[in-house]
Amino acid sequence: MSVWQDDAGRDLMNLGGRLALLVRGEGSSVWDADGRRYLDFLGGIAVNCLGHAHPVFVEAVSRQAATLAHVSNYFASPGQLELAARLKRLAGTGERGRVFLANSGGEANEMAIKLSRLHGRDTGRSTVLVVEGAFHGRTMGALSLTPKAAYREPFEPVLPGVRTVQRSIESLEEAFAAAVADGGVAAMVVEPIQGEAGVVELPDGFLRRARELTSAHDALLILDEVQTGAGRTGEWFAFQREGIVPDAVTVAKSIAAGFPMGALITFGDASELFYPGTHNSTFGGNPLASATANAILAHIEDEGLLANVVARGAELRAGVDGLPLVTGTRGAGLLIGITLAAPVAAQVREAAHERGLIVNAPADDVIRIAPAYTIGDAEVAEFLDLFGAAVSAVAASIPTPTETLA
Ligand SMILES: *Cc1c(COP(=O)(O)O)cnc(C)c1O
Repeated sequence: MSVWQDDAGRDLMNLGGRLALLVRGEGSSVWDADGRRYLDFLGGIAVNCLGHAHPVFVEAVSRQAATLAHVSNYFASPGQLELAARLKRLAGTGERGRVFLANSGGEANEMAIKLSRLHGRDTGRSTVLVVEGAFHGRTMGALSLTPKAAYREPFEPVLPGVRTVQRSIESLEEAFAAAVADGGVAAMVVEPIQGEAGVVELPDGFLRRARELTSAHDALLILDEVQTGAGRTGEWFAFQREGIVPDAVTVAKSIAAGFPMGALITFGDASELFYPGTHNSTFGGNPLASATANAILAHIEDEGLLANVVARGAELRAGVDGLPLVTGTRGAGLLIGITLAAPVAAQVREAAHERGLIVNAPADDVIRIAPAYTIGDAEVAEFLDLFGAAVSAVAASIPTPTETLA
């Protein structure tokens, strides 16, 4: 074990190992302290949408840091106003939209929970529906919306009144019917694609039915687009492919390309629920974060990068098709889950790491990639080469069904 691992093991909170000591990045490459280069196809878990040290990012942070970094929410800044207007436009809220700027996905989701409380206050409803496999964050409120037992059980009791719906339209309908019997639903919170569960898609029509049922039951439809938002799927927001309008959407990860930021965007009547004194955040939407997000989102738009997200996503999916162990792909744009024929995702991740490729394994049999929106031919080719070598090595190391029989 090298020295940095000793330091990490002793000084960092005991929450799991660190895979490497990274010291520098450029484009889709990162380097560790020994000068070893990795192709980064995880992008800081769907965050570094322009790759590393992109000139637009560097310029925006540097310029704003030298101008005005932080002022508290007693004051507005031009970047904050520009960002709110931009997010309303990109999300398609129309006039009656509002934006709150936060620092993370979890924080944006905490506010979404408070939105559901304000909505349900008059009717006495507080039940929130979530979907099996959902991940909404690690803070106590967001954790309460996250069904996975390993994440929440150590911290129980969590918020009461959260019910889990299976990923089927039938289960969705049953949940609303059952909730009527005991008081009704305040809100449903859904990820359009479940990133942490392993890039799991919802059944066709699920979101549209969720919209119909929430509307019919006077409940809010809140979409958690922390991972799918800000262009990751090739649309600014994944819900835009479904032809629905939610009451609120949360976004974070890619929104400022690595500067910590999150946002809650509300639509229509849901925009009128908060009032002075009901929420705030010291750092939320400070000039530094806002200026960075503006520069990033403007660059994505000006350069037409969403078309690249769609095209490169299709190339990557076609390219992994037919590789050893690979049974298929799911997701959209540059949020891709590569499904494997056996529960060997951890081995594949490790074999990739050994070959200088960063990916992750959100489930036993799924590899996730979420590379930069800027990747081109060279990055796609290098990924397919390294990933192909990694799955081939793992495939060769596990017994085939015939060998098992023999
Ligand atoms: C990452 C993620 C979160 C949590 O965001 P943090 O910034 O880590 O708090 C919430 N929801 C989804 C869908 C995510 O992918």
